[in-house]
Amino acid sequence: MRAINHALGGAVIGLSIANPVVALPLAFLSHFLVDAIPHFGVSGFDDVGGKWFNRTLIADASLCVALVGVLAVTRPYYWVSASICAFLATSPDLMWVPNYIRVKRGKHIQPNKLWLLRFHTRIQWFERPIGAAVEVVWFAAGIILVEMFLV
Ligand SMILES: [Zn+2]
Repeated sequence: MRAINHALGGAVIGLSIANPVVALPLAFLSHFLVDAIPHFGVSGFDDVGGKWFNRTLIADASLCVALVGVLAVTRPYYWVSASICAFLATSPDLMWVPNYIRVKRGKHIQPNKLWLLRFHTRIQWFERPIGAAVEVVWFAAGIILVEMFLV
């Protein structure tokens, strides 16, 4: 799932669960639940460094920063916990950074030695272009839910 969709899920958790002992781990774990839902994807690391990959990465990061900005302006008392939850919900994808760097340097990706990496790979059983439809619906639902907490 795109980073902004993970971030929206985390923000909703952060806005709806006041207890950080519950909200923070739940936000982190939500990443894997959301990744198990069919979602957009093209070809793993094959497209890393391409224009499409870079543009979607920048758009995704920009939307996440915009989400934090909206939360900070509209929810001054809750934006920190919502933003931390948004980050935690997105953060497991940082485990792909070492392979991203390897591919950008023209090297082969390393086999997934850690069980969490293998798990993270396996749960994403449906990553295809048609999954963009699910991402759009998830994004719209996330915006609506975050807005509900902004009232
Ligand atoms: Zn992921």
